Amino acid sequence: MTMEVDILELSDRSAKFVLSNTSAAFANGIRRASLADVPTIAITEVNIYNNTSVLYDEQLGLRMALIPLTSNMEDFVPKEECSCGDFCPACQVSLTLSAEGPKIVYSQDLVSSDDKVQPADPNIPIADLREGQKIVLEAIAHMGYGNKHSRWQAGVACGYKNMPKVEFSGCDLCGACVTECPVDIIKMGTESAEISQEDMLKCTLCRLCEGVCDIDAIDVKTDEHSFIFTMESDGSYNTKELILNAGNVIKNKAASLAEILSAL
Ligand SMILES: [Zn+2]
Repeated sequence: MTMEVDILELSDRSAKFVLSNTSAAFANGIRRASLADVPTIAITEVNIYNNTSVLYDEQLGLRMALIPLTSNMEDFVPKEECSCGDFCPACQVSLTLSAEGPKIVYSQDLVSSDDKVQPADPNIPIADLREGQKIVLEAIAHMGYGNKHSRWQAGVACGYKNMPKVEFSGCDLCGACVTECPVDIIKMGTESAEISQEDMLKCTLCRLCEGVCDIDAIDVKTDEHSFIFTMESDGSYNTKELILNAGNVIKNKAASLAEILSAL
């Protein structure tokens, strides 16, 4: 069976789609890869030249590290995989910040040495500076993996559930399930209660309908080979790139396994 993807919603930051004719292992592989194995660029070191804000240097460093930066797997490599041995534009990016109060310092105040590496959101607050307070620093960003530290986690709120399958047989049209359903997706037809294909996606598998039916006419099951995915990106990549990168990560791992095995 060929795997099928049915896109329900797709925007820069989030996606919802149905993945069918596949296994739970593959679905989980995509989920894990997007959380842990798709590398992103994040700030790892901060050289602070002046900080008279109310934040400790460490707090400032922590905030900087958690600002998502736009990433690009074609132009950058994780530092430990770079052939330069020290640092170069392919594995390291410098961002500077120079601000004086009174003002709120936002992520957009960071000046990057690389046009492709920019804060994914311009309005992430960093510090609230009062009159005369200053922050002057240089932040060094590297590419890395979410499995090492959450600063490099591209996917957020990535998850899936099996496609619900609710079957009605011998329904006596009592309507108890219609009123019981918390997501209000069961409608009364002429011969039986029913759920439209579109509404089936909203089923939370709570099984309340099954419990309230006195004649056991409802059977709530799941499709073991079909998954409803939701994915959000932190902005390092748009959602489409994130999913493609996750797929490529799995593909490359399989290819390197094949390479190792063929060399034996
Ligand atoms: Zn390098």
